[in-house]
Amino acid sequence: MCLFWCIFACLWPAQTYAESTKTVQKITYPLSSNSEKCFGPETAQICAAKPLHSSLNLKIDVDKKQISAQAEIRFQVPAQAKSAAFLFTQRAEKVWLNGEPVAFKRQLAPGGHEWLLLIPLNEKGLQKEQQLKLLYPITGLTAWGLRWKKPFHWRTDFSDSSDARFSNVLIPSGFESERHPMVWNFTFRGLTQPLQVFSNATDYSERGKGLYRLGFDQRFNLAMPYFEFESAPLRSFNFAFQGLYSPIPVTLVIPKGLGKSQGLSEKQVFAEAEKRIRSTLFEFEHQYGPYAFPQLLVKLYSLQTGDLPLSQEYSMEYGGAIVSRLELIPHEICHMWFGRGASPQDAQAGFVDEVICDWYDYRTPFSNTQLKRPPSQLVPTQSWSLRTPEAVYAEGQFIAGLQGLFHHKQHNLFVSLGRFYRQYRLKSYAVADFRQFLEAEYGGDLTPFFSRFLEGQSEY
Ligand SMILES: [Zn+2]
Repeated sequence: MCLFWCIFACLWPAQTYAESTKTVQKITYPLSSNSEKCFGPETAQICAAKPLHSSLNLKIDVDKKQISAQAEIRFQVPAQAKSAAFLFTQRAEKVWLNGEPVAFKRQLAPGGHEWLLLIPLNEKGLQKEQQLKLLYPITGLTAWGLRWKKPFHWRTDFSDSSDARFSNVLIPSGFESERHPMVWNFTFRGLTQPLQVFSNATDYSERGKGLYRLGFDQRFNLAMPYFEFESAPLRSFNFAFQGLYSPIPVTLVIPKGLGKSQGLSEKQVFAEAEKRIRSTLFEFEHQYGPYAFPQLLVKLYSLQTGDLPLSQEYSMEYGGAIVSRLELIPHEICHMWFGRGASPQDAQAGFVDEVICDWYDYRTPFSNTQLKRPPSQLVPTQSWSLRTPEAVYAEGQFIAGLQGLFHHKQHNLFVSLGRFYRQYRLKSYAVADFRQFLEAEYGGDLTPFFSRFLEGQSEY
């Protein structure tokens, strides 16, 4: 299944998970807005860096199997900040702030499991834009999807838990609520054949042999870019979906021969995928509002569960791109509305889009027996983690339950969710925002329901 906010909750040490569960049970509503982005004593406040622009330069020597990477980030921090914090997983070798080398340190994010790169700031000009440049030693790229073997293959990858989000590794400005423009420059040396490039970049160009520039506009955050460089033969097929608001160009990509073992031609696979894409786009635009991205890239890697070994099963949504097996296309396209179009502000809110899209997988009607279930476990409220517990990913009955409540008052939950989408389109929401919005639509207190489903209260 697609794992939205992050995919590694299953790797949480059991003890940590138990501790966070305890914390969750103590939370009383309203949940914090998660707007706290500074911590530490007043004299040494560490604040989240707000990225204004990120760029990444990658040089890949295919023959020598060497890579070098440099990231540059323009950012701002609140005036009281004494240090700027960047969420990241990779340790930079050298760091420059506004052109000057700086000493930096790495600290485990409070309440989270990610690292913060802490950059001391000068006293002067704290409110002005700062510029950070980072140089990385590159190791473990295989885990990010780079295959040195032929055919050459590299894509945004999340198959390895610790390096799950490529962009967060090398552009450590990774607080997901912060959409900002990004540029990724790739320079390949030693290629023996041209690469096929598939990406959801909003500004793409080839600048000579082996030089690719992928630009992403302000609609994107660090979880949303997708790229794929391939020398293996891939088939692609383009069509335009006439959306309600504007045409949506769709690119469909499959490996050569996909479907053959099931007796399907590539043409039949394309036709089936196109049908699902069209019907899902139609339904979501009518139900919720305009698609938020300039295009849709769909990479299909298999047809259904069981076609590939479990270790190779993956589906994921990006900003205007999905990687999916055929049967999960509606689920992943759902995330173009909930998850990427309107996006969670933090890991705690990461459950919202997943319960909605999980509900769409089954369209389960609500029944009272669903209340006799263990509650979901939201992560504790804090802004410094990218992790959402896996348990909240398959909770479509949360939506079914809400639907039942709304129905009793002759309200239509999905009309309300449409208004929610349109309000938060290309913006981010916290759990409290979601709940307050629904309460206004419902015309009543939803505390008991949220408590029962999310907090672990024993009574509903
Ligand atoms: Zn999902």
